[in-house]
Amino acid sequence: MNEHLTQLVKLSQFDKDIVGFDPQIENEQEKLKAFTKVVDEINAEIDRLYQLIDDTKNKRIKNDIHLKELSDKLEEIAGKHKVAKNEKEVKALQLEEEIAKEQVNFANEEINRLDALITSKSEDLETLKENLQKEQESVSELKEVIDTSIENLEKQKGELYEQKSILVSKVDPKVLAFYEKIKRWAKESAVVPIKNQACYGCHMKLSNRFYSEFITSDEIMTCPHCGRIIYKDSTESA
Ligand SMILES: [Zn+2]
Repeated sequence: MNEHLTQLVKLSQFDKDIVGFDPQIENEQEKLKAFTKVVDEINAEIDRLYQLIDDTKNKRIKNDIHLKELSDKLEEIAGKHKVAKNEKEVKALQLEEEIAKEQVNFANEEINRLDALITSKSEDLETLKENLQKEQESVSELKEVIDTSIENLEKQKGELYEQKSILVSKVDPKVLAFYEKIKRWAKESAVVPIKNQACYGCHMKLSNRFYSEFITSDEIMTCPHCGRIIYKDSTESA
């Protein structure tokens, strides 16, 4: 094979291999993201519970204040009872007292309900905090493993870059420019083999005439259909 072409086949393989590391690195990062997402969700739920408990405590305080007001009112009614002048006034006071007592009952029930809610949500909060700690521990363990794995991949990628740049320095600048121009649109498939008389870039069949010229030529040739640089597949006998 033409020496320039041999270099381009290698160069294209380097480019393909280098790009091939990206999905692997991304995959590692995604793994970590899935775990940190769980941590974020638990944190959000913890915030929500804190807020809910705060709100419930505030409601409880309001009910306590209301109870105090009702107790003052009942005292006031009791005082008026002593100085009531007639039955009509007594009945009105009794009605007022009854309503106030009902409100006291209601406020007490509400306080009990709020207390139960605060207790149960506080328990939920503790459980969540425990979960959070466990998740955070496994995330930091995982992060270590993933960081190492990414580091390795980056290192391998870096080594390929180095090998590629050594090769690039040896390639004839005109040939390199030709390759780069095709690579701009063809990406990692700028240099493709011909197998079964077909281009492996565009999968179009080469005419018999072009194919026999291609087989015998030692020049760098491009596919007449797509314009990619083509080479004879070494695994295929002529
Ligand atoms: Zn083609």
